Amino acid sequence: LIVLSAVNKHFGPLHVLRDIDLTVGRGEVVVVIGPSGSGKSTLCRAINRLEPVESGTITIDGDPLPAEGKALARLRADIGMVFQSFNLFAHKTVLENVTLAPVKVRRRSRAEAERRARELLDRVGLSGHADKYPAQISGGQQQRVAIARALAMDPKVLLFDEPTSALDPEMINEVLDVMRQLAQDGMTMVVVTHEMGFARASANRVVFMDTGKIIEDRPPEEFFTAPRSERAKDFLSKIL
Ligand code: ATP
Ligand code: MG
Repeated sequence: LIVLSAVNKHFGPLHVLRDIDLTVGRGEVVVVIGPSGSGKSTLCRAINRLEPVESGTITIDGDPLPAEGKALARLRADIGMVFQSFNLFAHKTVLENVTLAPVKVRRRSRAEAERRARELLDRVGLSGHADKYPAQISGGQQQRVAIARALAMDPKVLLFDEPTSALDPEMINEVLDVMRQLAQDGMTMVVVTHEMGFARASANRVVFMDTGKIIEDRPPEEFFTAPRSERAKDFLSKIL
């Protein structure tokens, strides 16, 4: 579904993505881990061209990433993104947050968008909260709204960039539960996270990055029991 091949990017003198080769198949869950500054967020953002890259190719469903214009907007509509900071519209209700893009971008009728939004809010455990504003619900609930909002576009893939990092510990699990369920339902997901429990249980592959390079790309059971590189061993010893 997503293929990156020899992708490179600099920020000034800093080489943030170095010869990145990565394939994410349909229905696969790929967890990306690595030290701070290793390029995980940049990699995520490159996949929907929030960050342009300098060389290499990125294809989605066999089509190269369009550089701009309508084709790029169409492609972005197919790629859901969930960030560390939930980025909900503060002055819109939960229901409005979830229906906005389907109505505007997918040209769905309001009634149809609302019906689907209520279904999705139910799926993320928030059926009673449709008419609240983001400030009236917890961080974990806000993040689940953000997931419902991404799902409302019927994306081909969901990208998560540290979706639980800003949450209090007791709220992390309610978000991870939703993500685990999505993984089980066959959603294609790229997930940057420090939640190794999620990686072990739900990932098909773990990608370990360091200084802009992919150092390891292997099934979680192999990666966690026998990391090959010193850098991965060192990283795991610090976080586990
Ligand atoms: P973290 O775990 O802290 O989120 P990360 O692995 O997501 O880190 P990136 O955010 O991808 O890392 O950043 C990779 C490197 O690129 C870092 O050194 C960062 O400082 C730098 N960087 C990121 N965005 C920019 C930018 N817009 N301009 C300049 N440098 C940037
Ligand atoms: Mg990051």
